[in-house]
Amino acid sequence: MIEQVLEHLWRIEVPLPGNPLKSINSYLIEAGPRNLLIDTGLDRKECLDAILSGLGEVGADLEKTDFFVTHMHADHSALVPKLARDGSKVYFNRPDAEVFEGVSPWETILHYAGRNGFPEDALRAALQNHPGYKHGVTKIPQFTFLEDGDALEAGDCRFRCVRTPGHTKGHTCLYEPEKKILVSGDHILIDITPNIQCWRDGMNPLADYLASLDKVHALEVDLVLPGHRRIFRNCRERIEELKRHHRRRADEVISILAGGPRDAYRVASQMTWDLDCASWDLFPVAQKWFATGEAIAHLRYLEEKGEVFSETEGGSVTFSRES
Ligand SMILES: [Zn+2]
Repeated sequence: MIEQVLEHLWRIEVPLPGNPLKSINSYLIEAGPRNLLIDTGLDRKECLDAILSGLGEVGADLEKTDFFVTHMHADHSALVPKLARDGSKVYFNRPDAEVFEGVSPWETILHYAGRNGFPEDALRAALQNHPGYKHGVTKIPQFTFLEDGDALEAGDCRFRCVRTPGHTKGHTCLYEPEKKILVSGDHILIDITPNIQCWRDGMNPLADYLASLDKVHALEVDLVLPGHRRIFRNCRERIEELKRHHRRRADEVISILAGGPRDAYRVASQMTWDLDCASWDLFPVAQKWFATGEAIAHLRYLEEKGEVFSETEGGSVTFSRES
């Protein structure tokens, strides 16, 4: 399905079968001499069909199309190699590209999960069904890297890159100051909360995310074009809601640790989750994995603030309220 958002700017709803996100929004800026297609979908037929039929409806030619990818997650990036033609530019950010180029990021993640109390074997089995694993990027395209503040023109849109680390390390939004449009990727969504996870040492993605929210709060935005769900207008209000949400989550983590030290997996099992499951034990492994990643992000954030302490013993990490 393709719908017109503004003159020359279209939204293609690309289905994500079996994924709770339901679909991803791909945005087409139809312009001469080159179109720009922002985010694409997974490397699977349902996504490819949706993009091709959307482009076909408005007569946009892939031979004259460049791509911008907000971040590395497979639902945004994986279809690009199938769509890009010889002359296509693929605009991307360096920090996320380095994850693609790294040696098996999944092994690092598995090991880190194990140290944080996650049953590693269950995760390994579940990964085989993870869409990012099954329908992920198979061939790394030739990227053109953009930095924070760089300009990107498409038709009458003069975008500026706004680097917004948090959801991923290099996540980048596009801001059009004249039209006051923000292409927000997965940085700011409405109806659902962007997932902020930590799966590596030495990182504090929640602190990065909150700083990125403040960075966008300073922009004048009339229309937000998000990576999932509906387009919306009240950007600042949504940012304030998201900040309150994470403060509540951090408070919840602190109150769980008041019951004594425990690992991140156990903290996650005691947090409240908006899922149709009677108990933590009945959560699908993938959901437990997202939940644990979120718990670690909040624990790391609180640790950096001196409100939580961690101890590593025998390869296992335990968090507590006292050092
Ligand atoms: Zn994402």
